Amino acid sequence: MGTYISQKIGFGDFKRTLFNLIWPEVCQACGVGLLTDENTICLRCLSTLPLPNLRLADQDPFSLSGLTGLPLVSVHSLMAFRKHGLAQRLIHKLKYENQPEIGVYLGRLLGQELLKLGFPDHPTLLVPVPLHPKRQRARGYNQATMVAKGLAEVLGYEVLDAVLIRPQVTESQTSKSRGQRLINMQQAFEVPTGMKLDLPIENYHFLIVDDVLTTGATVGSCARVLFAAGADKISVLTLGIA
Ligand SMILES: [Zn+2]
Repeated sequence: MGTYISQKIGFGDFKRTLFNLIWPEVCQACGVGLLTDENTICLRCLSTLPLPNLRLADQDPFSLSGLTGLPLVSVHSLMAFRKHGLAQRLIHKLKYENQPEIGVYLGRLLGQELLKLGFPDHPTLLVPVPLHPKRQRARGYNQATMVAKGLAEVLGYEVLDAVLIRPQVTESQTSKSRGQRLINMQQAFEVPTGMKLDLPIENYHFLIVDDVLTTGATVGSCARVLFAAGADKISVLTLGIA
């Protein structure tokens, strides 16, 4: 603190410092108080996150069974996801501990990686994988929408929350085999009738956004629905890949 106060600080910084004295912000990963130039996750935790900028599309684009046969443009995930690792802890907090800002923060990180790869490619729309309305009401937000918000801040794309809807509650996936998961997801999404876009649907590049990529069943199901509705260019973006 002493070193900070000796620096020249603007009024905005000053207000933030004052605010943090009363309600200190802590790192969402380790719980340690954040420094003034840190945000959501401390630099020490950030340096230990498995951020390989994994480019699935450059390696084996369709090794995930749920994406097999789909003519996707690219599949990108920000972090390798290991059991009990930091990435898994953060995504658990995002989904189950009412921490939507973690999604926005990690979405920004993913956006910065995509900028390095030459995105944007306009016109592009971000399509968060929807939650069933009941589940979203219980959670208070859709974590995929939070990730899309962070991506939108960095890349300047529009988030299209209403392009896919989830008309039925999908049973929990965790107790099911890979084949059962695929069947379970097949009927999970639809494009609502009367959806309006400024340009014909085939002119857009759709980026389907989700928190974690496991079998690819969920995002694959979304992609199939968009292809069936006439979309031509579709890519997949997730925070983690299991
Ligand atoms: Zn930390």
